[in-house]
Amino acid sequence: MDSKILLRKLPSVNDLLNLDKIEFWNQNHDLVEIKSAITQVLNETRRSILTNEFQNDIDIPYFENAIEKILRDNRVSELQPVVNATGVILHTNLGRAKLAIEAQESLALMSGHSTNLEYDITQGKRGDRYKVIGKLIHELTGAEDAIVVNNNAAAVMLVLSTLFNGKEVIISRGQLVEIGGSFRVPDIITSTGGVLKEIGTTNKTHIKDYEEAINEDTGGILLVHTSNYKLIGFTETPNSNELAKIAHKNDLPLVNDLGSGLMIDLNSYGLSEPTIKQEVENCDLVMFSGDKLLGGPQAGIIAGKKKYIDKLKHNQLLRALRVDKATLAALVATLKLYRDPKKAIKKIPVLRDLTISKAELQYKADTLKDRIDSDTNFSAEVINGTTVVGGGAFPDVKLPTLLIDLKSNISATKLNELLAYAKYPIIARISHENVLLDIRTIDESEFEKVISALNEIKN
Ligand SMILES: *Cc1c(COP(=O)(O)O)cnc(C)c1O
Repeated sequence: MDSKILLRKLPSVNDLLNLDKIEFWNQNHDLVEIKSAITQVLNETRRSILTNEFQNDIDIPYFENAIEKILRDNRVSELQPVVNATGVILHTNLGRAKLAIEAQESLALMSGHSTNLEYDITQGKRGDRYKVIGKLIHELTGAEDAIVVNNNAAAVMLVLSTLFNGKEVIISRGQLVEIGGSFRVPDIITSTGGVLKEIGTTNKTHIKDYEEAINEDTGGILLVHTSNYKLIGFTETPNSNELAKIAHKNDLPLVNDLGSGLMIDLNSYGLSEPTIKQEVENCDLVMFSGDKLLGGPQAGIIAGKKKYIDKLKHNQLLRALRVDKATLAALVATLKLYRDPKKAIKKIPVLRDLTISKAELQYKADTLKDRIDSDTNFSAEVINGTTVVGGGAFPDVKLPTLLIDLKSNISATKLNELLAYAKYPIIARISHENVLLDIRTIDESEFEKVISALNEIKN
């Protein structure tokens, strides 16, 4: 059809505001948002008519569908809670660690009130934002002092720019890794003013490689946890205990980017990794994330020798990286749970999901399956599967898990999408044309959300 005729047939904003559907939209969206969606659809339609790309009829269903799609996409694009049914415990796209109740409560309380964040009540004057963290980390790891910044990437940048600016940074080629897309160790070293002194090979670096690399320009030795990948086979790299001796003999700091940072030993659960405490014994500074295995808020913790922490405190950059009271509140509450490791494992969701027993998994899976069978039009089958920790932690570990296999006539891709578009989105996984809900990361308190989402879908 002639584009002029099509353009003349376009309704006005007011016409579209009088559609029958408006009442339904009004339930979940305000008028400003609806008007904006209408304008967007009209503009887009006009544009596609003018470029001869318009393929539809100009009728009510066309406009209703187009407006509805925008409103729906707006709704799901807002930051909101979702059910992580992927089984990946530290899913970076899903916000990594879920906070323990204690941390959630403290965060909410401190956010809504004035606090003594930087006020020392005992002295009646200005206090130190990092004092509480320093004390707690000392108590839990033996580190002399600690500070906290926005995330571990910031922690690493602060340490490197404070200690190694203009100096050579010795690092094994096996540790020049890229973590999560934009964090590339060699680039971080150079962008913070350090000179990359790479030694050894990808699979083997020896003590003598480190010894031979030290000269008058050396700033220190950097260790980086390879986090998201694991070298297996013929590999060798000195541990922090051996490296500490060399570093200290030469009066150099040994700093270690631990990545995840494990506070308590999980060897008995088949998860072996040195703890923060063990690394603090050898290294001058260690850095680790708050929202990976620690199970707290997004943060980067730097712990170690007081003389180096003091240097960090004097770096102007710290002012730009400092955390707010909400982060501190959640972090302190999380750390306090570690005073009793048994309590930490029960109360910190990351640790709970990591260490859940086979019997508990089976109980959760059976309970959800029964509810799906009895309270929805779907049926479910419990099957065995495996999952990963995520967040760059334990990359070689495959955790056994149980999956709810949803039986449906809807295609897997479609069902997966419908679950994600539910009022309370369910993020599932697809395997071989099946939609699977991994029970390991679904809390019992979330079963109701899964049932509601399934009941929103016509099966
Ligand atoms: C995850 C990770 C980082 C980045 O930490 P964020 O808290 O995500 O900024 C840095 N180094 C290592 C080794 C990591 O595993």
